[in-house]
Amino acid sequence: MSPKFEQTVKLLRKLPGVGPRQAARFVLALLNKDETELRELGGAIVNLKKDIRFCPECFNISENATCAICHDPKRDNGKLLVVEKVTDLNSIERTGLYQGHYHVLGGAINPLDNMTPETLKIRQLETRAAKLTAKGPLELIIATNPSTSGEATALYIKEIFGGQPNITLTRLGRGLASGSALEYADESTLKHALESRR
Ligand SMILES: [Zn+2]
Repeated sequence: MSPKFEQTVKLLRKLPGVGPRQAARFVLALLNKDETELRELGGAIVNLKKDIRFCPECFNISENATCAICHDPKRDNGKLLVVEKVTDLNSIERTGLYQGHYHVLGGAINPLDNMTPETLKIRQLETRAAKLTAKGPLELIIATNPSTSGEATALYIKEIFGGQPNITLTRLGRGLASGSALEYADESTLKHALESRR
């Protein structure tokens, strides 16, 4: 096998969920693209961090200082939905049912992966919740994944905010199968989970 091919496979395997065979399939597919398309992809990757940044309020991705959701005056300031990743936020946005704000933690607590409360945006969540509760009551909706690390994160958040004045803690309903990821849940499952939160 070509060392350059192997090297590209190795680089692609660093992406989440990409195994050796899938990575090899990607490289073969790329080899079938024409030069222009490859340059477009290469350029998009090279400029990724320059063109896209994280919203300083909610840590959604954004091309401006604050993201479109934080910017939208029609959004309900009395609701803050906490997710692990931007892809989870996107899934919930697609249902069109939720009109509040979001907070993206950037992962879930998992000591094996060096993910601790300090590496997540939990302190920022505290600051934000304090700001929002100063204006009125706040529903803090925990929408971490129904996985071990997602549950650990939910518990941690409950410990911080449980019993705080002006904050009601809710959790997405059980419609989501245990172990399944939010980002892969279909729309009707998510709608049900949102409606049955408690
Ligand atoms: Zn934002």
